[in-house]
Amino acid sequence: DSSKYTTVAPPEGYAGEGFFATKLSDVVGLARANSLWPLPFATSCCGIEFMATMASHYDVARFGSERMSFSPRQADMLLVMGTIAKKMAPILREVYEQMSEPKWVIAVGACACSGGVFDSYSVLQGIDKVIPVDVYVPGCPPRPEQILDGIMKLQEIVKNESVRRRSSEEYNDLLGSYNIK
Ligand code: SF4
Repeated sequence: DSSKYTTVAPPEGYAGEGFFATKLSDVVGLARANSLWPLPFATSCCGIEFMATMASHYDVARFGSERMSFSPRQADMLLVMGTIAKKMAPILREVYEQMSEPKWVIAVGACACSGGVFDSYSVLQGIDKVIPVDVYVPGCPPRPEQILDGIMKLQEIVKNESVRRRSSEEYNDLLGSYNIK
């Protein structure tokens, strides 16, 4: 049903003839939001919930995200699931940097959001210490419905962003503000 995506009413005379008017940024946003390719960075229990999210009952394919990528070059939605040890932080950062723009990040579960129950010298207290995060999904672990809700929230963000999400200068400034030490 394309009518629900129409943001500008069709001019009189075109109605019913298969035309609709919109903005390029809306079309690009719609295409991006409905074809987010996930890179699952799963280190522990929350990853199991994502496996359920991918399977037929919850069926992440309904949101255009069934195409998993284990190459950062071919993914635009990084899902970080599980406990991230401080020793692993540089690897997570490198994986993020290897992804092409535009790219987005979802922190799935308490460990990725804040370190969770592992308030320890060796555990990163949230992945947003080393990379920018767009959506936080709470829970230990979050249910598949919550993960889908996080993806839907990200879709709303993506739909409303400009075609040129950020310049390379803005990206470098943003990344430089995250301390990897
Ligand atoms: Fe495991 Fe809970 Fe951490 Fe998820 S948030 S990785 S379920 S301990």
